[in-house]
Amino acid sequence: MPHAPLEILRSVFGFKSFRGRQAEIIDHLIGGGDALVLMPTGGGKSLCYQIPALCRPGVAVVVSPLIALMQDQVEALTQVGVRAAALNSSIPPEAAARTERRLRDGELDLVYVAPERLLTDAFLAHLERCRLALFAIDEAHCVSQWGHDFRPEYLQLAQVHDRFPAVPRIALTATADGPTRRDILERLELTGGRLFVGSFDRPNIRYHIQPKQHARPQLLAFLDREHGGAAGSDAGIVYCMTRKAVDDTAAWLRTQGYSALPYHAGMEKEERSRNQDRFLKEDGLIMVATIAFGMGIDKPDVRFVAHLDLPKSIETYYQETGRAGRDGLPSNAWMAYGLPDVVKLLRFIEESEAPERQKQVERQKLEALLGLCETLRCRRQVLLEYFGEEPDGRPCGNCDTCLEPVESFDGTVAAQKALSCVYRTGERFGAAYVIDALLGADTARIRDFDHQRLSTFGIGKEFSREEWRSVFRQLVALGLLVVDMEGHGGLRLGPDCRAALRGERPIQLRRAPARKPSAPTKKAARRATLEHADDEALFQALRARRLELAKEQGVPPYVIFHDSTLLAMAQHKPTDRAALAQLHGIGKAKLERYGEAFLAVITAHGA
Ligand code: ADP
Ligand code: ZN
Repeated sequence: MPHAPLEILRSVFGFKSFRGRQAEIIDHLIGGGDALVLMPTGGGKSLCYQIPALCRPGVAVVVSPLIALMQDQVEALTQVGVRAAALNSSIPPEAAARTERRLRDGELDLVYVAPERLLTDAFLAHLERCRLALFAIDEAHCVSQWGHDFRPEYLQLAQVHDRFPAVPRIALTATADGPTRRDILERLELTGGRLFVGSFDRPNIRYHIQPKQHARPQLLAFLDREHGGAAGSDAGIVYCMTRKAVDDTAAWLRTQGYSALPYHAGMEKEERSRNQDRFLKEDGLIMVATIAFGMGIDKPDVRFVAHLDLPKSIETYYQETGRAGRDGLPSNAWMAYGLPDVVKLLRFIEESEAPERQKQVERQKLEALLGLCETLRCRRQVLLEYFGEEPDGRPCGNCDTCLEPVESFDGTVAAQKALSCVYRTGERFGAAYVIDALLGADTARIRDFDHQRLSTFGIGKEFSREEWRSVFRQLVALGLLVVDMEGHGGLRLGPDCRAALRGERPIQLRRAPARKPSAPTKKAARRATLEHADDEALFQALRARRLELAKEQGVPPYVIFHDSTLLAMAQHKPTDRAALAQLHGIGKAKLERYGEAFLAVITAHGA
């Protein structure tokens, strides 16, 4: 195909310019080079192989482990006029045979295949009769046992290279710490390829992390403040730790007037896929889920991801929150967490069958996440540093600690009191008990242990229970206190606590937030909201039209146009095709297919 990458970006996809390292990667691949691409979710990995697929002669073979995602990608490509098809176990034999014919006759630009399909002798033999543009290996971390989604079939993908040594390959993933990265390079025999690491920053996501007091009212306040409340809620995901919590939370959200659906591995497969389908195809649904949900969810207009429980690591947190705002519009990542979450997660680690070395790694990962939760600094900086980036030193201005800087105070004495009370009660109680002792509470348990006679009994009355909880979380985050899993989750002193215990090490702590729910952030990161009511009305009319068109075809609305494109229409109000074609996300095929329909809405609105 004779077109240059930039021209294809504009005429086919309707985007103005490349993002990050896309242009470099695309050129490298067109030139026949191999590559490993690490970019966050929503970073724009797909174009890195889709455009070379269109520039190089022959068909691009895309390996993907996720059937749902394949279908979505094929649909989106078809909508922009690119010839794409998928081959996997869910495709009926006749359709598969048709795809194989088109493949042989050179009528496809891209074919998405499941790895087990690709590796069959019959299919490899079939490929030998085709002209191949490139191999793309999506979700490449599946090749690594370190990763969380190891797929044994992925290990055999190196074979494909042995068989087609001249065809360039690109492996892509959003999750690759050092060991996983090395695994990918070695196991896919990509060591001769170039490594492209994009920034992991997701600037349109605003991070909020707050201590869990009463999780449900906290969540409601957040949804109300930032996401239109029950009446016009945005689409979002609420993560919970257990299946039961998922079911309960979804049911409760419905009683509050929200459209909420559950999703977890304990549900019937059918119901699960029905819920997932509704989430993709309807507007404004909330999916309440365990971590089982989200892999392969490519919905671009998820406006918030809320965690009602603590995930197990920063990687998991970042991957889950990364499902918000793929379309680049403002989105929120919100979380409520408490020390009981930490204890629960530590218990899971302890009870797992994993070898001690891995448990140690898991504990450290949890500690790092706790550090993020309790930081006084810009959250984005902490996140990016964790992923090995060096942010430019300026706070981001788009996270809670930037927007409402936390007050800190000299916590040296508070720490000393807390630590010595842990020590005097025998290093075997949880935070709740020790706090009771600090506050001088007259409880049966305290009397049972005769702890009202301790010198530290009642020495902490200057703080509320809430404030003490905050102090304890921070002492755990600092490693001065350790949750002792052998001692049933009680707290014991950390190895470096001596100076702090004697009050010789100055300790700066963050002040617990006031009891009232925090005030609305100055400028709420609300979705697609337009300043003028009139534009907002037009935007809603455009969305309604989009939903009709999507329903007619049985596809998710976003494969027709993203919200960002509809927003641009509502703001610029183009009245002819030429003006419409100027907007973000409108290439030739979509102009042809949908131009008139949306122009009609705009004209009717102006009339
Ligand atoms: P990833 O696979 O890395 O998670 P995608 O390839 O799905 O991300 O891209 C995320 C979103 O960004 C998509 O909606 C895509 O259309 C959009 N996008 C990608 N590259 C560009 C670009 N150069 N300009 C505008 N939008 C882009
Ligand atoms: Zn910040």
